Amino acid sequence: MPASFTLLGTSAGPGVPSYFCDCCGCREARENPALARTRSGALVRSGDGFHLIDTPPDLRQQLVNQPLQSILAIEQIFLTHWHYDHFGGLGELEYYVKLHRKQPIKLFLPPSAVASFHDAFPDLTDVFDVSAWVFGQSYPLGDCSVTPLPAAHGIETAGFLITAPDKRLAYFPDTAGLPEFTRQRLGSLDWFFCDATFTGDNWFPNSHMSIDEAVSLGRDIGAASTVLTHLSIHYSHSMTVRDLQDYLADSPDVFIAYDGMEIVL
Ligand SMILES: [Zn+2]
Ligand SMILES: [Zn+2]
Repeated sequence: MPASFTLLGTSAGPGVPSYFCDCCGCREARENPALARTRSGALVRSGDGFHLIDTPPDLRQQLVNQPLQSILAIEQIFLTHWHYDHFGGLGELEYYVKLHRKQPIKLFLPPSAVASFHDAFPDLTDVFDVSAWVFGQSYPLGDCSVTPLPAAHGIETAGFLITAPDKRLAYFPDTAGLPEFTRQRLGSLDWFFCDATFTGDNWFPNSHMSIDEAVSLGRDIGAASTVLTHLSIHYSHSMTVRDLQDYLADSPDVFIAYDGMEIVL
């Protein structure tokens, strides 16, 4: 079976709809649940195994929506950074490990998050085999590899370069542009998944990006296709998915992420 990369969730922290928002985008998602977004994370299928990137608070429901055989073979987890919308579902793996897997699962964290993990989850130390990932180092992912590269997000944060035998994909759900070290390593990308948290004004220009900024960054680094993810639509200029499709109608190299979107590697 070919390797694949599936977006489990495609929202920024508040989710779409968010429970406290009645903007046009949240209303659209309430009326049509196919347009709802859970918090951002991804599942890589490679070789005989499955690998999680981030464990968002919606993880349980995201995994329930996947074919059972994929979930029963989760081998390792890589976290981009220690923000709740990316780590909050770690506890959802407890019963998978205790009842099915019966041995700890490898969890790769940002170096600065190892102590935070032990503080937050003292009861899960027998569930995870914790290591710190190292920027620029490649880790095997079945027939592919994953390399954490620095993102610009205020706290220590990685985006992941995933290299398959003949595809290169980068996943940067939380970043404000790309540090030079990272830029130099993201040539010849087939797919660039980029933080596009804001429509209109960027409220947090030091940690996130707007739709327009993500589109131009993708072009700037020469990615063949850019996928806008970590989307939120509740801010200064709310948008529906339909608005966004119209807005991007002349950009055939730009795609709007959706929960369950799958790329064959
Ligand atoms: Zn986030
Ligand atoms: Zn974050």
